[in-house]
Amino acid sequence: MLPVVSIVGRPNVGKSTIFNRLVGSRKAIVGDQYGVTRDRHYGESFWNGRKFNVIDTGGYLPDETDIMIAGIREQVHIALEESDVILFVVDTEGGITSLDQAVAQLLRKQEKPVLLVPNKADNDERTLNATEFYALGFDKLYPVSAINGRGTGDLLDELVNLLPEEQEESESKTPKLAVVGRPNVGKSSFVNALLKDERCIVTDIPGTTRDSINSKLTYDGKDYILIDTAGLRKKRKVKENIEFYSTVRTDRALKECDVAILMLDAMRGFEAQDKHILREAEKYNKGIVIVLNKWDLVPDKDTNLHKEFEEYVYSRMPTMDYVPIVSTSALSGQRIHRVISVAQKVLEERKRTISTPDLNNFLKKILKEKQLPIRRGVPLKIKYGTQVKSNPPVFKFFMNIPEELPANYRRYIANKIRQKYGFEGVPITMTFKKK
Ligand code: GDP
Ligand code: GDP
Repeated sequence: MLPVVSIVGRPNVGKSTIFNRLVGSRKAIVGDQYGVTRDRHYGESFWNGRKFNVIDTGGYLPDETDIMIAGIREQVHIALEESDVILFVVDTEGGITSLDQAVAQLLRKQEKPVLLVPNKADNDERTLNATEFYALGFDKLYPVSAINGRGTGDLLDELVNLLPEEQEESESKTPKLAVVGRPNVGKSSFVNALLKDERCIVTDIPGTTRDSINSKLTYDGKDYILIDTAGLRKKRKVKENIEFYSTVRTDRALKECDVAILMLDAMRGFEAQDKHILREAEKYNKGIVIVLNKWDLVPDKDTNLHKEFEEYVYSRMPTMDYVPIVSTSALSGQRIHRVISVAQKVLEERKRTISTPDLNNFLKKILKEKQLPIRRGVPLKIKYGTQVKSNPPVFKFFMNIPEELPANYRRYIANKIRQKYGFEGVPITMTFKKK
């Protein structure tokens, strides 16, 4: 998992300008995609061979000073929980304010490394003036100009020095299951129900410096790492913060996991944000399981109801009907184990390999069943195919005019592969090369 750096400070000191310098605005996740408030930033950065995530904690703060202090306090607290290193940004133009002092006080009282960054040090004079910020009680200053780049190299050198060591290989071999979904669908109830169950053995994995959100789960003789994206929230007052950080966690967990367990609230159905999470999981080629939670609240359950829900979800995501769906009640514990066994099945499907002769016999057959079209007066021909990789599976096909292969024919091949070989819950990558 990538280390996390948070940028904190009062409004207008230049946090988002620093963020853009570190991340490049192009790469940032800015709000809307996830239905998160616009002016929040989260993205990846890279320096001296180290990659890390950057969070700009800026965003909305109320205008009245006393509420603002409460708001900034909450942001600092969350930043402390979520990150490995903190950049505390102040403004050489504006000098020290009472808000800076409030933030400094919170940051001095804790263990995480903090770098004090007087920004807008555009020239020598401002850089010299930055020494006034020693009054905030930190040992060192890193004056920068986010606008012209001055000082940012030194800051980044020190920042990457403070990042925790990368996690060891052995741990990463254990399959990782990420429980993702919108707030309040029941993720933490689900994780807690598993943790409480005597059939599961659970061990906390101490985080590096970040609060631990992973636990090791042993079920049915097999080990898993369970990534809980629900974590902190409950204590938090500002809803916008909760949603922003749940986005940040979801994105990180999706990148890191082997199987994404997308939890939906059966009473609320499928929304744009769920679709987005599924697309991301598919884009990263992760195994996927959908869980319809709060099944206990669904009235008039008869034998067909699960099937109807399945059809409803697939109708919203027609290209993802390969994803298994389990209905659960995290409250009563109903079928929560089934989620783990289905995830286990998906892990196995992800490793499936098809031998080249087998695949080509099959290919011959399906090519005969549905004719390839003629393009530019030439009949399209797929000559052969091979699975170049498993876990996740990647297929490569060789044909005469790859750029003319219609999308529906691609889907036809993918569907046929699934019908014959399974790959339940596993995105399949197919490339077509000229030969
Ligand atoms: P935030 O509210 O802390 O995110 O601050 P912004 O990044 O929005 O910046 C606030 C204002 O300060 C903007 O007008 C920026 O252009 C300006 N600013 C940011 N960094 C610098 C800098 O290094 N030098 C100068 N002169 N202005 C800056
Ligand atoms: P999270 O934000 O996704 O982690 O959701 P929580 O686990 O905090 O659950 C949100 C609310 O839904 C809580 O009040 C839970 O008690 C309730 N809840 C969670 N799972 C179930 C369930 O299976 N059935 C019912 N009836 N309520 C549930």
